[in-house]
Amino acid sequence: MELTALDIPTVKINQFKKKGISTVEDLARFLPRKYYDFRNIISINQVKDGEICAVVGIVHELQSAEKYFKIKIKDASGWHMSVIWFMPSKSQGYLKYKLQPGVEFIFCGKIQINTQYKSIQMLSPFCFSDDIDKYQRIVPVYSKIPGMADEFLLDSINSALALVDKFDYIEPILLNKFNLVKNSVALRHVHQPNNEQDIEEAKKRFVFDDLFVFGMQLAQTQQIANCKSKYVMPNCSIIKTFLKTLSFELTEGQKEVLKQICQKMRAGERVNSLVQGDVGSGKTIVAIILMLIAYENGLQSALMCPTNVLAEQHYKELLERTKDTSCKVAFLSGDVKAKQKKEILKGIETGEINIVVGTHAVIQNDVKFKNLALTVVDEEHRFGVVQRNLLKAKAKEGVHNITMSATPIPRTLAMTIYGDNIDVLTITSMPKGRHPVQTFCIKDETKAYEAIYRQIKEGRQCYVVCPLIEDSDSEVMEGVESVETTHNKMLDYYKRYPTVKISMISGRMKPDEVAKEIDKFAKNEVHIMISTTIIEVGVNVPNASVMLVKNAERFGLSQLHQLRGRVGRGMYQSYCVLMSEQKDNPKLKVMCETTDGFKIAEEDLKLRGAGDFIGTKQSGTNKYIMLMLSNPDLFTQIKTEINEIYANPIRLNRYNSLNEIDISDK
Ligand code: ADP
Ligand code: MG
Repeated sequence: MELTALDIPTVKINQFKKKGISTVEDLARFLPRKYYDFRNIISINQVKDGEICAVVGIVHELQSAEKYFKIKIKDASGWHMSVIWFMPSKSQGYLKYKLQPGVEFIFCGKIQINTQYKSIQMLSPFCFSDDIDKYQRIVPVYSKIPGMADEFLLDSINSALALVDKFDYIEPILLNKFNLVKNSVALRHVHQPNNEQDIEEAKKRFVFDDLFVFGMQLAQTQQIANCKSKYVMPNCSIIKTFLKTLSFELTEGQKEVLKQICQKMRAGERVNSLVQGDVGSGKTIVAIILMLIAYENGLQSALMCPTNVLAEQHYKELLERTKDTSCKVAFLSGDVKAKQKKEILKGIETGEINIVVGTHAVIQNDVKFKNLALTVVDEEHRFGVVQRNLLKAKAKEGVHNITMSATPIPRTLAMTIYGDNIDVLTITSMPKGRHPVQTFCIKDETKAYEAIYRQIKEGRQCYVVCPLIEDSDSEVMEGVESVETTHNKMLDYYKRYPTVKISMISGRMKPDEVAKEIDKFAKNEVHIMISTTIIEVGVNVPNASVMLVKNAERFGLSQLHQLRGRVGRGMYQSYCVLMSEQKDNPKLKVMCETTDGFKIAEEDLKLRGAGDFIGTKQSGTNKYIMLMLSNPDLFTQIKTEINEIYANPIRLNRYNSLNEIDISDK
């Protein structure tokens, strides 16, 4: 249902759309990030430092400053409290208008008590004046929608809940069997809980839904048991000549993987392989060789990456590596201009182009291949699984598929995720001459800056990664420095070493600007590159020898391992510096103790729980895999149920549309 059904202004609809909410159903599914319990009102004379609570008081003094807006309130106990919002004066209009002196409000937020100045204040609370009783409850907290007031969001969600279809796609017998609340009930409870149990029931239902959809899609993939392929590749003399152009020799691990895949392709069996190998184990070159073999046999290949940045890097590498052959490579992305795109599409259709690199756009329906025989999916840090329908269609036609993953997982798990008919191949060895990256956990920033400078003096380069700050929620931001702040700080520090060139990539930059900055770094025109995890996805700069991660405790273990993998790619000793106040953090300890990707993946699974899934996005991992791992028994039961559904066409019919849902993490 369109958002216009909510009868709200177009400005608001656009604000929703910018946040990825384009239908009424999306809005109903916009889940809270967390909850605050405001069921009891506390008197100002009883509040405690650090507590998140609700206070009811009358506004009496307003103060507007350049960077904050402050009011004083007084409650029934006769005590006073300040309430502060940190925001530039130009954004304060709404608060000024809303907080009229003499009016009673309920304020829900975090208390800060300064014993020295005997002051009590509340930081950036929600506040409501009418229907105060209505807000004395468990209040959901959502990720901010720029430009939108909290009340407006709550009201809109409420209207959306009234409009969404009450039909439950799950059969009533299943709801009973798994002891689940109805979808409409779960939605109501997750947004407007009366108690903790409501929230738990809703979570349970959503976990079930996710696993059920995931399981249904897996079941469908398994139906494609295609063992033969018409794309036979008998010739492979190109390998020999190609290897001569490389400045290194393939590792045993790389050779073994190539051998296994080539054997199958030569014999006319369909290849469906998961090639896993730690970061830096050299998966790209394996993919390039396989694509060149396809080329030698007169066939086309497509290389797909999760991001544009990574796709572009692969494209450049391919151009460089194929420059002595007549193999033609093209880059296809959403940014390619229409005229150029038309030309590329034509080249792909006539077969003039042999290899296409890009994001998943490269196998979209408007791209017609002359004879596509091999798809390579570089999932890089993502925890596997591209269950995209288009790939499935290609698989049915016998197109070979190689999926490359840097998060090694046990074979049995890989089979559950990718289906029983996948070959799991692991590159076990690392290229010769690599020194394990030395990892430290430190607090002192100056020390880190000096260490970086010593490396730059030696000719090396450095990455600095900051956590992504998504929300303007003061509590989330506490002690976390953004890319911009870090950039300013480093510019200031390195004034004493004027030769040091510093650059940054911020979320506000356009894709081509980002690409330009990365390019400068790759060419060693810049020594320090500051960014969020954007560089996580496979940037390859062998000259970089330091990876500095700020607020390292905020990153997932696998993510830290991936970040560390950006250095130590050349012949230089490299360092990973984890900045954190939490020296005893178990994740950071694991990082300092081992560089073995398998071990880290294992520890990562142990340390994670599914507890905080609601409304938060776990970057770098696939939500479905995490859910499956944290609910193994439930998932087994669901799989059994799905097998029964598949055996019964009438039941299956009800669930047909589930295979259309895109469950890839966006
Ligand atoms: P990943 O497996 O993380 O994708 P890459 O394919 O990006 O790793 O390879 C990392 C670096 O190692 C690249 O610079 C690549 O050229 C280099 N490399 C790959 N194979 C070898 C090898 N056998 N010996 C030395 N260097 C290699
Ligand atoms: Mg890679």
